[in-house]
Amino acid sequence: MTDKNLVCKDCDSQFVFTEGEQEFFKEKGFESEPERCPACRKSRKEKRSKRGSKEKNRNKLR
Ligand SMILES: [Zn+2]
Repeated sequence: MTDKNLVCKDCDSQFVFTEGEQEFFKEKGFESEPERCPACRKSRKEKRSKRGSKEKNRNKLR
């Protein structure tokens, strides 16, 4: 495997999907590549964890 250059869906910046990350994705059973750069992934995670206190709303979001 080699490092891959991907373009973030959210901010259109390029980021590297490293060999190590690809391994990690495979291990987790993810078949698709990440669509967002680490920064956007992180900010999404933070948003989600803030919402996490309102568990009831989760079903509405999906
Ligand atoms: Zn991004």
